Amino acid sequence: MAVLPFYISNKKNLKIVIVGGGYAGIAALTTIARYQPSAEITLIDPKIDHIKITHLHETFRYPLTDFLIPFTDIEQEFGCRHLPLELPFSESTLLQWERDKTISINNESIPFDYLLIASGALNNNADQGSGDVMGLNAFMKHSGSEILNQFLSKPGTEAPISVIGGGATGIQFLFEIEHFLRYHKYKNKLRLIDSGDQVLKQFPDRFARYVEAAMKNLNIEYYPTTYFRGQQHSQIRLEDKKTSHQFELPSSLTFLFSGKSQGSVLKANAFGQVIVDQQILQHIFVAGDCAYYQSIGSNALTAQSAVRKGKLAARNLLRHSGLLKILEPYLHRDIGYVVSLGPADAIGWLALENNVVTGLAAYTIKEIVEAQYDLLLAGIDTYLL
Ligand SMILES: Cc1cc2nc3c(=O)[nH]c(=O)nc-3n(C[C@H](O)[C@H](O)[C@H](O)COP(=O)(O)OP(=O)(O)OC[C@H]3O[C@@H](n4cnc5c(N)ncnc54)[C@H](O)[C@@H]3O)c2cc1C
Repeated sequence: MAVLPFYISNKKNLKIVIVGGGYAGIAALTTIARYQPSAEITLIDPKIDHIKITHLHETFRYPLTDFLIPFTDIEQEFGCRHLPLELPFSESTLLQWERDKTISINNESIPFDYLLIASGALNNNADQGSGDVMGLNAFMKHSGSEILNQFLSKPGTEAPISVIGGGATGIQFLFEIEHFLRYHKYKNKLRLIDSGDQVLKQFPDRFARYVEAAMKNLNIEYYPTTYFRGQQHSQIRLEDKKTSHQFELPSSLTFLFSGKSQGSVLKANAFGQVIVDQQILQHIFVAGDCAYYQSIGSNALTAQSAVRKGKLAARNLLRHSGLLKILEPYLHRDIGYVVSLGPADAIGWLALENNVVTGLAAYTIKEIVEAQYDLLLAGIDTYLL
C-alpha cells in the first residue's frame, strides 16, 4: 500500500460509491485502490465498458474494441463492484444522500461513507444515431469504419459528407474521415460547417491558420459562420449566421459534433466537495467534466483535467476520512493540448499556450499522454501531479 501524505487511516473497509466510470471516475478508483486497498468501492455506470473517448475518432483505422476496457476487468484488477445502472441525481437528492449516507438504486440500498460524482458533461446532439444524421454516441457502439462502410455501401450515397462543429472533436473526426475516404477510394466530397468564424476558436490563432490550410490542401469545403438547420432527403439545410439566409446543399450523411452542454455541472470547493445552496457537502465529492471547482486550477473540459480532479478528489476523500483531515486544494493547470489531424499530423500547445507544436512532434506528445493514461489503467501511476 502506497503512503498518502497527510492521511492517517481511521477506518478500514471505507465504503465509497463512484458514479461514472469515465476518465475522472477511473482515475479516482485507481487512486483509492492504491492508497486504501481495503476500501469497498462500488462503481455505477450504465455502460459495460470503460471507453477511452479521446481515441474515438481513431476508430476509422482501429477497431472500437481497442479502446474499450470491460468493467469486469476493472472489477478484477482493482477489487471493486460495478453496477451497470444509471443513477439520476439532482441537487435535492444530493442533499438527501449527504444526510442519509445511503443511495437507493434498482431496489437496493447502498450505504456509503463517501460518494464521488464523475458523470461527465452532456454532449450536444450526441444521441442522434439514426439514418443520415449521427452524433458522438454512434461511435460508442460501432467503429467509424463500420459506420461509413455500411452507409456508403448503399446505393445513392455519393453526395458529400458533412461534419458539423469546428471544435477539437469535430476537427479530429473530420481529418480521420478524410483519410478514410481517400484510403478506401470513396469519391464523396467532405465539408465542414461551423458557426464560428474560424476553427478551433478556443486555441491560439495559429491553430486555425494551420488547420484551415490543411483543409484547403485536402479539398475539404469549409462553411464558417454557418448554422446547421437539418438534413432531409440527401439535402442539408444551412443558415448564414450573418444574413440569416437559409440554403440547401446535397449531403448524403451528416455528423454532429456540436460541443458540450454545461447543464449537468456541479459546483465544488477547492477540495472537490460539492456545494449546494452554499452548503458544503462534506461526504460528496465531484470530479471531471461535470465539476466546476472554485479554485485557480483548470476547469477545462479535458481528459487531463478530469484525471487530475478524479485523483485529487480521491486523495481528499481518503484524508477526510482519516485522523488529520488536512485536504489539498486543486491547483492543476493543463500542460498542453494536442488536436490530431489524421494518422500522421497534429497541432498542439505545450507548457504555454503560445508554444505551438505541429506535425510529428505534436503527434508524439499525444501518444505519450495517451500512454500515461494506459499505465494508470494498468495500476501504474506516472502522473507527477
Ligand atoms: C472524440 C474526442 C476526443 C477527445 N480528445 C481529447 C484529448 O485529446 N485530450 C483531452 O484532454 N480531452 C479530450 N477529449 C475530452 C475528454 O474526453 C473529456 O474531457 C473526458 O472524457 C471527461 O472525463 P469525465 O470522466 O468527466 O467524463 P466521461 O469520460 O464522459 O465519463 C462519464 C461517465 O459517466 C457515466 N455516466 C453518465 N451519467 C451517469 C449517471 N447518471 N449514472 C452513472 N453513470 C453515468 C457515463 O456512462 C461515462 O462512462 C476528447 C473528447 C472526445 C469526444
